[in-house]
Amino acid sequence: MTRRFSAQELAFLRNGIPIEHVIVSFLSLQHRRDSDKLRFACPLCGGFDTSIQLKTNLARCFACKRNFNPIEMVMAHLRLGFTESVSWLKERNVQRVDEKPAAYRKNQTSPAKIGDILSGMLSITPPPSQESPLPTISERIASLEKKVEELFTLIEGLISLRLPHQ
Ligand SMILES: [Zn+2]
Repeated sequence: MTRRFSAQELAFLRNGIPIEHVIVSFLSLQHRRDSDKLRFACPLCGGFDTSIQLKTNLARCFACKRNFNPIEMVMAHLRLGFTESVSWLKERNVQRVDEKPAAYRKNQTSPAKIGDILSGMLSITPPPSQESPLPTISERIASLEKKVEELFTLIEGLISLRLPHQ
């Protein structure tokens, strides 16, 4: 069976993961900051005539005249196909989410947000076997898709049982 991704999942990977995070943390591309603006080494030409656009979550190389969303950035830098890049990005993002609670605890002087409090409470209560207290949207979608596929398999099995054998 070929690996498929839902539209929501792809939209999340394109827009939900900051492109700066993909460049700096996930891919560790060479980068520098000019007066707070991030410039990265273009994965195609290696030049620094680049910028990132927060609004659209795109990275641009002015020399290549190309925009990269997070998926395209992974494809260009790691020279992977689309499917491999999406899988790679998903795995890295799950790790990123797992790291979050530690970062929250460091930051206790500022007023707590309700989301932080809830995630803190949730991370105390779940059974020890649970890996991530708050599954990401993409994880939840993936698990739902898996259930749908299991249902289809079940339904197909039931239909084949009801059909008289020839
Ligand atoms: Zn370039």
